[in-house]
Amino acid sequence: MREPAAPAGAWEPVIGLEVHVQLATASKIFCGCATAYGAPPNTQICPICLGYPGALPVLNAGAVELAARAALALGCEVHPRSIFARKHYFYPDLPKGYQISQYDRPLATGGALAIRLDDGSAKSIGITRVHLEEDAGKSTHGADGTRVDFNRCGLPLIEVVSEPDLASPREAFLYLSALKRSLEYLAVSDCNMEEGSLRCDANVSLRPRGESRLGTKTEVKNVNSFRYVEAALAFEIERQAAILERGEAVVHETLLWDAGRGEARAMRSKELSHDYRYFPEPDLEPLDLDAAWLAEIREGLPEGPAARADRFVEAYGLPEYDAGVLTATRPLADWFEAAAAAFDDPKEVSNWVMGEVLRLANERGETVALAPEPRPLAPAALAQLLALKAAGTISGSVAKEVLAEMVETGTGAAEIVRERGLAQVSDAAALAAEVDAVIAAHPGEVAAFRGGKQGLIGFFMGQVMKRTGGQANPQLVNALLRQKLAG
Ligand SMILES: [Zn+2]
Repeated sequence: MREPAAPAGAWEPVIGLEVHVQLATASKIFCGCATAYGAPPNTQICPICLGYPGALPVLNAGAVELAARAALALGCEVHPRSIFARKHYFYPDLPKGYQISQYDRPLATGGALAIRLDDGSAKSIGITRVHLEEDAGKSTHGADGTRVDFNRCGLPLIEVVSEPDLASPREAFLYLSALKRSLEYLAVSDCNMEEGSLRCDANVSLRPRGESRLGTKTEVKNVNSFRYVEAALAFEIERQAAILERGEAVVHETLLWDAGRGEARAMRSKELSHDYRYFPEPDLEPLDLDAAWLAEIREGLPEGPAARADRFVEAYGLPEYDAGVLTATRPLADWFEAAAAAFDDPKEVSNWVMGEVLRLANERGETVALAPEPRPLAPAALAQLLALKAAGTISGSVAKEVLAEMVETGTGAAEIVRERGLAQVSDAAALAAEVDAVIAAHPGEVAAFRGGKQGLIGFFMGQVMKRTGGQANPQLVNALLRQKLAG
């Protein structure tokens, strides 16, 4: 990623992120309409989410539970009472003329999320608040006019607002990655960015290095990939630095990132918060949460990715690097643990998962590693393969070949080795004959070896392997060669 050019060096970027996350409930937040993605436009709507006069919202308890789970996992204090509020603005995809959100009494405040910087050090990013709200509809602008799909209206969201603790576009990227990973582990959202389940607005301002007061910020909206967030922030930092270098003032405004052009353009001047005319939603009771219920949610929180990586280092003796790769997603971490339970050499399992298994999964376009369709590779199947290798029945290179076939056909390792006659040749008499043949065929190399060119052992090994189709036991061949060449 491009870092800001020279002038920006004098300026310190201050970045905060607002992330909207769609909660993984089957129905909407205030009505019973379905939330499934991709339904034909305006087929998942009702008088409540369309905001008909007199229709009354009813809060979805499942959404509250997922939101509480996320807030607790992010270390927030979840308040015993929070209040829903109407946030007024006019837009064609908002039929009520207001969005039900939370304002001065949000669900939760005061958390933190740790990110690991590129130099390996950890940095804690403050979480200002986590609140519940409903989504708006979606306008599509085409040649024949604008069409509005209200299916999104009333989808349950949490908004996770960070403190302005991020000091570079790269840190913003790392924070978003860590947040997404945590939320996926918690199963509170599918975090599918292409489907809009996770969206990010970024606030950025510059100030002279060493200054503690904040400069005027701008907001970059509608960024739907982490790489775009990074690029949009780098662009905006350079733009603001150039303005400040000229001695001019940055204007408080909202910008829209255009990924195609690689630039941010002004959208509208940012409304101040009082322009939204927030007031408590009269149709909803305050959200009162029982302390015992919250304690139960906290008890039931799954192990997060960072804690799991620490445990992988402790319990399996893995390097931190391995632990980081293996805990990238919960399915991958689960898969590794199942394989490690079936084969008693965690580092060997780790090497194979990080190497061949992920490579094969990627090759097959699998985003959830280790489930190459249509024949997912079972952890126990890898364990069986590694057992054959550990017993010396097959060599490492044959094992790779067998694994590829296992993924391709769904056949077990032992069966492939038996059917294709891949078992390693460990019959000393048979190998001795091959070694003799190689020695007889290369008198020049034999003389050179005996004259001191010890490196030629690799050449002889290669010749024997060639004659045996790679199935000779390499330790045995090496011993035989050294014995016969010495004579
Ligand atoms: Zn509805």
